[in-house]
Amino acid sequence: MTANPSTTTTSRFPEFDPDLNYSMIIDGEDTSSGSGRTFQLVDPFENVEWGHVPEADASDVDRAVRAARAAFPIWAATLPVARAAIISRWADLIREHAERLARAQVHENGKTILEMRGATQSVALLADFTAQMAQTIHGVTVQPGVPDHESWTRREPLGVVAAIAPWNNPLGLLSWKLLPAVASGNTIVVKPSEVTPVSTLLLVALANEAGFPPGVINVITGAGEAGAALVNHPGIDKVAFTGSTATGRRIAEAAAPRFLRTTLELGGKGPQIVFADADIDRAVGGLLTGVIAGTGQACNAGSRILVHDVVYDEVTSKLQAAMDAVRIGDPLDESTMVGPVASRAQYEKIGAYFSVAESEPGTILVRGGRIGTDVPGAARDGLFIEPTLYETPDASSRIRREEIFGPVGAIVRFHDEEEAIRIANESEFGLVSGVWTQDIDRASRVSQALETGVVWINTWRVFSTNMPFGGRKMSGMGRELGLNLFDEYTDTKAVWLGHAPH
Ligand code: NAD
Repeated sequence: MTANPSTTTTSRFPEFDPDLNYSMIIDGEDTSSGSGRTFQLVDPFENVEWGHVPEADASDVDRAVRAARAAFPIWAATLPVARAAIISRWADLIREHAERLARAQVHENGKTILEMRGATQSVALLADFTAQMAQTIHGVTVQPGVPDHESWTRREPLGVVAAIAPWNNPLGLLSWKLLPAVASGNTIVVKPSEVTPVSTLLLVALANEAGFPPGVINVITGAGEAGAALVNHPGIDKVAFTGSTATGRRIAEAAAPRFLRTTLELGGKGPQIVFADADIDRAVGGLLTGVIAGTGQACNAGSRILVHDVVYDEVTSKLQAAMDAVRIGDPLDESTMVGPVASRAQYEKIGAYFSVAESEPGTILVRGGRIGTDVPGAARDGLFIEPTLYETPDASSRIRREEIFGPVGAIVRFHDEEEAIRIANESEFGLVSGVWTQDIDRASRVSQALETGVVWINTWRVFSTNMPFGGRKMSGMGRELGLNLFDEYTDTKAVWLGHAPH
């Protein structure tokens, strides 16, 4: 087998006919692209093509936005309790079809089945939470500072939301936008990544089965061009985006002239700081997760590892041992810890960093690199990258600064708390960070000093529907999840009522 994907069918996913033509979902109808153009997906483990997916152009985007616009007035006026009932039915259907949804994502992006099962369950959990929270959307009454008036506020939906998602957690990250948007009365046009459209089409088909009226949730499929057409469509009121910082910047530029609302969840390169008083074994577990989870294709990667001088040798040798023991293999195998990377483009991008590392000062502590030939069942020219760990003493190191989005860690030594905070904050990113210490005062102090939207203390990569997630600096703006999850999807209206003097 060569670098070109084969058209041989795969026996690993008998439920997905490789010759099937998938449809977009516009106004409750299955529809192909107006041009008739399609693209194919590639299973990254076996390097085989599967599925024909419509490639939307601007006219398809226009159809979807018009459908969402037309559905908006009635959906916005639907009682929150009625919207919540549909969302609850959707949650039941997601649970019923969870395995199919998880497997679709593994077929698309090669992430491990355990991770994709967890991500799918998290969508059902968020649907439960959103259905409950939908019934709490409220304004406040205020006694104004002028006589003979009453005043109150209302939270109103924005209109049509455009949701653009990445491939690395297709359903989870989409649900963070889709659920609060529709629960608070907006309608939506979704554009999944071109790497992972089928799982989204399956999820939205279940939404329609649950009873969403036609036009409330629409899906167009395609790549960056379709995404750009959606962002530039005059009929949308907000863009909710997760993806790379480069694309996020293009979206912000397109949105600025119209003052279009945006939430942007972008890249990251999370620091994890290990102090000398940390529980080292627990810390090493977190460091390993930070480097290899999702084969490193995680915005919440904790791959910038800062270790106090006193425990540096102990931490590096334990981390090396843990990385050497990582099981690489078929993502459908429950014992696999690291599967293939999601696409050849991603594989080449990560691979280029091995040449970058050779030109930088520092030492390779765990020698990784590209492999592909010796993973049983995988394509001979497979997309596997072994976990790799570099010492990166130089602050200008690209390995230390840039988002590699692969299982590659950068480790650096520090001597005191002040230096650790300085190194942690020297990044352009500000999404997640971690502190490993048993000193509660230090934990509190350092967590306040870190310039990130999320800080994990003595833990790593935990999420809850009622805790907010989002970044600072080049990691974007806005928050998803949390108790205020409707704030980004509703506007505050101030209402004044004047009456005759009493
Ligand atoms: P990407 O930016 O290449 O693509 C994301 C989405 O944007 C895709 O659907 C793509 O088709 C679309 N797109 C591309 N160009 C566009 C344009 N000009 N206008 C509108 N849409 C366009 O990102 P990716 O490779 O799919 O995802 C990986 C990136 O996502 C990483 O940088 C990662 O850190 C980031 N990410 C962030 C979070 C977070 O919550 N902060 C979570 C996961 C991933």
